[in-house]
Amino acid sequence: MYQISICHLYPDLLNLYGDHGNIQALRKRMEWRGIDVSVHSVSLGEPFDPEAHDIVFIGGGQDYEQDILLNDLLNQKKEALFHAVEGETVFLCICGGYQLMGRYIKTGSGREMECLGALNHWTISGDKRLIGNLVFSVEGLKQQPDGYIVGFENHSGKTYLGEGVTPLGKVVHGFGNNGEDGYEGARYKNVYCTYSHGSLLPKNPGLADELITLALKRKYPDFVSLQPLNDSLETNARISLIKRFTRK
Ligand code: GLN
Repeated sequence: MYQISICHLYPDLLNLYGDHGNIQALRKRMEWRGIDVSVHSVSLGEPFDPEAHDIVFIGGGQDYEQDILLNDLLNQKKEALFHAVEGETVFLCICGGYQLMGRYIKTGSGREMECLGALNHWTISGDKRLIGNLVFSVEGLKQQPDGYIVGFENHSGKTYLGEGVTPLGKVVHGFGNNGEDGYEGARYKNVYCTYSHGSLLPKNPGLADELITLALKRKYPDFVSLQPLNDSLETNARISLIKRFTRK
């Protein structure tokens, strides 16, 4: 039996707009296929073991919570998280969690908060909230061939990508990374970052399956593909949202 361990980093501090829903979607979609799933919380003062988990999830948080945990992140978990990222562990990092994976966040008062630096991106606080439904398109999404991802964003930080990091997708409706360059999210190795919150994976089962497939292939070299599920309800909901937001 395949076994997958999910690590939920700072679940008590980073969990905005139902980010937990992403863990539930991953868990259910694996259980429905007979895969043994365990979810482990790792928060302040607790060690992160880079060898112990196949998927790492980091949710969104307000600037206040991000500030509280930075000390722990940089002094207790930095090296282990770098090890996991470079070792191609699958990561899903949402909004505040996405920002923390980058090099720094420049706050509204001009203070530069050093972040993990596992990915070459940075965030600058803006004076406008980038909020609302988000539709973006991702290339090469095997399980969701139209490539459209529907989500919800709410951030004031504007994120910019440097060399070595590719955007996760292109904005079709909404703001995405910064409301300026048309890109949304970031990809590096098996790290997926996005501004889309907790409804991301429940609304986009193809993306959930992409992450599960990556995790299984990394752990079990003989793994080929996931058994399909009946996603007709999710697909109808997703298509009707795409139509509503983009008039396509
Ligand atoms: N505090 C960050 C911002 O507003 C992230 C917010 C979030 O995770 N929704 O940019």
